[in-house]
Amino acid sequence: MSEELTLETLVALAKRRGFVYPTSEIYGGLASSYDYGPLGVELLRNIRSLWWREMVNKRFDMVGIDSQILLHPQTWVASGHVSSFTDPLVEDKVTNQRYRADHLIEAWIAQNAGVDDVVVEELTVPEMAEFIAKHQITSPDGNEVTPPREFNILFETAIGVIAGEKSKVYLRGETAQGIFSNFKQVLDSTRVKLPFGIAQIGKSFRNEITTGQFVFRTLEFEQAEIEYFFDPRETDWRDLFAQWQAAMWSFVVDKLGVNPDNLRWRQHTDKERSHYSEDTYDLDYNFPFGFKELWGIAYRTDYDLRQHIEHSGKKLEYLNQTSGERFVPHVIEPALGINRVFLMLLADAYWEDTANNRTVLRFKPSLAPYKVAVFPLLKNKPDLVAKAEAIFADLTDHFATTWDERGNIGKRYYYQDEIGTPFCVTVDFDTLADNTVTVRDRDTTEQVRVNVDQLVTYLREQIG
Ligand code: ATP
Repeated sequence: MSEELTLETLVALAKRRGFVYPTSEIYGGLASSYDYGPLGVELLRNIRSLWWREMVNKRFDMVGIDSQILLHPQTWVASGHVSSFTDPLVEDKVTNQRYRADHLIEAWIAQNAGVDDVVVEELTVPEMAEFIAKHQITSPDGNEVTPPREFNILFETAIGVIAGEKSKVYLRGETAQGIFSNFKQVLDSTRVKLPFGIAQIGKSFRNEITTGQFVFRTLEFEQAEIEYFFDPRETDWRDLFAQWQAAMWSFVVDKLGVNPDNLRWRQHTDKERSHYSEDTYDLDYNFPFGFKELWGIAYRTDYDLRQHIEHSGKKLEYLNQTSGERFVPHVIEPALGINRVFLMLLADAYWEDTANNRTVLRFKPSLAPYKVAVFPLLKNKPDLVAKAEAIFADLTDHFATTWDERGNIGKRYYYQDEIGTPFCVTVDFDTLADNTVTVRDRDTTEQVRVNVDQLVTYLREQIG
């Protein structure tokens, strides 16, 4: 990431090059909502598949599921979301606009460093009210605000055409609860044995009030969550916790190629941690607006399964085949936001190459939306175009490949650099004579001649 990288720069690049668009822009947009364009959708898919491959397919102790977004409403009563999935909000007394009280306090502390530094995450709602009153904190428009109140951020909707209490359902606020409610079915239908984990990737919804954080915090977002079940008498939770922390770190640094200087662990304090959690850490990334949570990990004990046992009346227990004992396993939960990974990769890859007067997204080649771009040197020479088309067709069997015949080669390089394509292949007149092409490297801008017969092998070695 460049030193002076601002969120605005990333937002502009993302829009200009088709990574992320404001949702419903023709109608003036929708708060905290974004659509992913042709480049963004490829990058998202790469992130998801890599996570699934590393966390599910490559491990003998993991399986996946895909549960519904609309679950039985009792799920959310049992999990505690209906009663306490809330954000503390204040209201601007003039504009009636609502704001997160904790975010206003955070912003005030950032501007008044050293005056009254508190740990915002630890403040209760009355303490926030006191802090806001004491420092006369106003809304971003400079107006007085109401004392903070808790607002539930679960999205409600209704099944059927008649709305009412009976048909009320919720869009899931996290994917985790679909895992807990399927725990017994997975046990009964597969050959898993403790310790093992269930993973899920899918959309979650939260009625977030914050704006201006781009895809970091949106109403609709994608989570990749794992519930890792174990017997706390046989496995020390601290060992498991440490193993998962190591797996998370290695995924971000080794598999996603992120600079470790931009990462840090932050342990939740006792006051801040959820009451059911024994220990919680956030893996934070240094986003353009500071270090913020990318990935959380919590030891949730047997809290969730017990809650579902109580509310469903079902025995969500594990049978130890050797001892014949039935018990409720404990769980460690690593919970990741796919869209935050997306934003992190854009920020981490962003590079202003001033020496060459270009902007480059230096994605790890295996993650780049397109791995290779094919150019016929001139678009009005049928021989060149036909040869380039044949090469393109061959490469598409192996890599995400794109085609460009517009403008001069320099402009095409400039464009591919900005979308992070690691290799460009140019078909020129020499190609017709000796069956070689020019392969240009995104990061070094170096060019080499490669025989077309060796092209796939060459690129595979480079991309890894
Ligand atoms: P935060 O404190 O930032 O609101 P959280 O602690 O509530 O996040 P979790 O409930 O632990 O988040 O969800 C797991 C992951 O889902 C987070 O680490 C984050 O990456 C992602 N996530 C949560 N809320 C959002 C959102 N509104 N938009 C995008 N991603 C989100």
